[in-house]
Amino acid sequence: QVALAAAEADIPAFDGRGRLSDGQAVTLLGNVGGAADAQAAAEARAEGVGLFRTEFCFLDRQDAPTVVEQVAAYRAVLAPFSGKRVVVRTLDAGSDKPLPFATAEHEENPALGVRGLRVAQGNPELLADQLSAIAVAAKAENARVDVMAPMVATVDEARAFAEACRRAGIARSGVMIETPAAALLAAEILDVVDFVSLGTNDLAQYTMAADRLSAELGDLNDPWQPAVLRLIRLVGDAGRAAERSVGVCGEAGGDASLAPVLVGLGVTSLSMTPRALDRVADALARVSIDDCRRAAEAAVSAPTADAARAAAREALEAAS
Ligand code: PEP
Ligand code: MG
Repeated sequence: QVALAAAEADIPAFDGRGRLSDGQAVTLLGNVGGAADAQAAAEARAEGVGLFRTEFCFLDRQDAPTVVEQVAAYRAVLAPFSGKRVVVRTLDAGSDKPLPFATAEHEENPALGVRGLRVAQGNPELLADQLSAIAVAAKAENARVDVMAPMVATVDEARAFAEACRRAGIARSGVMIETPAAALLAAEILDVVDFVSLGTNDLAQYTMAADRLSAELGDLNDPWQPAVLRLIRLVGDAGRAAERSVGVCGEAGGDASLAPVLVGLGVTSLSMTPRALDRVADALARVSIDDCRRAAEAAVSAPTADAARAAAREALEAAS
């Protein structure tokens, strides 16, 4: 405990501008689920919000929130980030986050069921109402809102979502890459949306076919698994080619040892629990983009998660 406190004390507080030792910017953002989290992220000097999980505002609701109720909930999150980028995710209902007003009561296999953006197919009004509420809240708070959809697996879904955003007056839309299908199609998806963000929690779950809620399967649900890293690389390469931003907003985004590898794979922003910001910013400030690329190459070439961790550590130690 004492040693941990000492180690924490050595880490400088994040100054609100993520960058590598060579000055290259890596945007460091906060993950939030409501107004209190947004306040914490602003206090930790997050450069914006990389993931606002809107479903967290309505977990206790039986009926769909009205547009007016939604505007109030979203404004409370946007308020501390006036003029800064806030990525608002549309309702990710289903599976581990059932919402009675949006999801079926019983599905055989809810993680593979009608969840995330798929809910909108059977209930387009729910999405349209949410997008109008986000547009109104963004205007009222003078926020730079980007809106993204969860659980996308096809280019058609991404295109339909971008169109729904345009109809609601939302200028920038993106999708989460959290299915292997979306990772494999990242280049085509980036032809129809403005940005993507990797949801590494679900991407690991679906790539490794391992329930993310199972403690027993923790070794499989690991973003260091080379299969997961290789999918992330595909997305990073597609982002670089299209000159579009590629974020990470799963738990991996707050892992300081993985951060240089993610940047080396082409990730341009990391979004995390606000308390991880200091540690991740400090880890990135110690490495250059060339170091990150070397560590990434070493990690993706490894045959196992443990070997990937060791290879990245070795590459970074050799650099320092
Ligand atoms: C993810 O899947 O990595 C993600 C960020 O979304 P959630 O954890 O809310 O499913
Ligand atoms: Mg997810």
